[in-house]
Amino acid sequence: MAVATEREYGLHIGGESVEPASGEIRDLTEPATGAPLARAAMAGEADVDRAVAAAREALDGAWAKTPPTERSRLLHALADAIAANRKELAELESRNVGKAISSVKAELFQAVENFRFYASAIASIAGRSNPVGGSLLFYSLKEPVGVAGQIVPWNYPLMMATWKLSPALAAGCTVVLKPDPATPLTALRLGELATEVGFPPGVVNVVPGDGPTTGAYLVRHPGVDKVAFTGSTRTGGEIMRLCSEPIKRLTLELGGKSPNILFADADLADAIPSAAWSVFYAAGQSCEARSRVLVEAPVYDDVVAQLADAAGRIKVGDPLDPETQMGSLISTAHRDRVHGYVETGQGEGAEVVTGGAPGAGAGAFYPPTVLAKVNGEMTVAQEEIFGPVVTVIPFEDERDAARIANDVRYGLFATVWTKDSAKGHRLARRIKAGTVGINMPYTAFPGIPFGGYKQSGFGRELGLETLELYLETKSVIHSTSPKPFNPFGL
Ligand code: NAD
Repeated sequence: MAVATEREYGLHIGGESVEPASGEIRDLTEPATGAPLARAAMAGEADVDRAVAAAREALDGAWAKTPPTERSRLLHALADAIAANRKELAELESRNVGKAISSVKAELFQAVENFRFYASAIASIAGRSNPVGGSLLFYSLKEPVGVAGQIVPWNYPLMMATWKLSPALAAGCTVVLKPDPATPLTALRLGELATEVGFPPGVVNVVPGDGPTTGAYLVRHPGVDKVAFTGSTRTGGEIMRLCSEPIKRLTLELGGKSPNILFADADLADAIPSAAWSVFYAAGQSCEARSRVLVEAPVYDDVVAQLADAAGRIKVGDPLDPETQMGSLISTAHRDRVHGYVETGQGEGAEVVTGGAPGAGAGAFYPPTVLAKVNGEMTVAQEEIFGPVVTVIPFEDERDAARIANDVRYGLFATVWTKDSAKGHRLARRIKAGTVGINMPYTAFPGIPFGGYKQSGFGRELGLETLELYLETKSVIHSTSPKPFNPFGL
């Protein structure tokens, strides 16, 4: 079905596909094969200027005049357009990222639901009025923050774009979205679809480009009022610095090293395949990958053996084959980084139980890899590997499990498996993470806040709370008393 190969993608600015002022058109390749995929324009500073100007004009013009009911209708229309174009979007995403098309289809379903959720959530945007005493009448207004600069990574290009766009547009902001330069195709297509369904020109602009140059320029741009970033903790820190002058609103969704805690009383027949899915989905290139499996000591050896067996049965291969469960990594350079971590782990005493050797050939394949004999201090137990590598760590009891779970700089997600639901809820309170799942591997649901504690960032996505991050609250106070104030008695 080769949807992408022949096409050259422009930037999406002011409702049009435009040539880049930078003049740069980059060749994109398929990570799973190394073959050419498409050509895409890359934005430079002048392009960001144009995109921010278009977003500002729409913010002060057509979008400001669009009532909430119409914003809601447009969000639903974009959801419909994603659903109608799902085959093309799925293939684009799968080929551009190397991700199994079966996974991408699930992500597309959520992309549609995100827009539907925020189309409805618009109804919740309202100020309030409450008695403040005396003759004062107070009410508050909710106003869009303004132009949002949004930066997303390569691991879920379409889904991350929908996570970012849907609340911003629901709140009445306009957006300049910068996808990762390696994976711009579905975000650019999303921009086109937004225009096709009737979003006014300039409401959604998409400008792929390099992070340290184009991305940093967007963050610093004086025409950008709020920055929303998803990516690594290191880049998040840099963006925080860039947002300090002039001061900008900022939300950060960063990395993770999330635990999957298996108690001896868990239903292991459910917990083990779920644990395999929780780390090997998207080849481990997920912020919320449960890349540390913590196992209660009496069942440690049994869990290691069963997890390795499950990992070995995952179908790895051609991302476009519907039977494939795990595709390639994003690039051979990233694959080599992942393998470097495995070697570091072995050097520190970890044992490779399955996997652990890069695939041959031009594709960036790495097998599902299980590392046993890991303790919480090892590099592979502390750092985000961002590949299909899981570390299995024993624990003694509930307190020990919580201690190890919390003993990393991240706090994005945790999953607990136990038949004792009181224990599950005790753990949920002890663990410092934005979300805790009990006997359930899934992580992201439209309507349920998602985000980090500690160095996994701040701010929440997917929830009603997210709307607040794109809104200002303005208080209006009016005296209804006929009596003059004259506070100085002049
Ligand atoms: P990255 O930080 O290198 O890049 C992310 C994005 O930031 C890209 O678009 C990149 O071009 C841009 N960028 C890079 N340097 C920049 C700079 N100085 N100024 C502005 N923009 C810049 O991250 P990555 O390695 O591409 O993505 C993987 C990371 O993303 C992982 O750490 C993962 O955990 C995280 N992630 C987090 C979530 C979440 O919701 N918490 C979701 C997905 C991915």
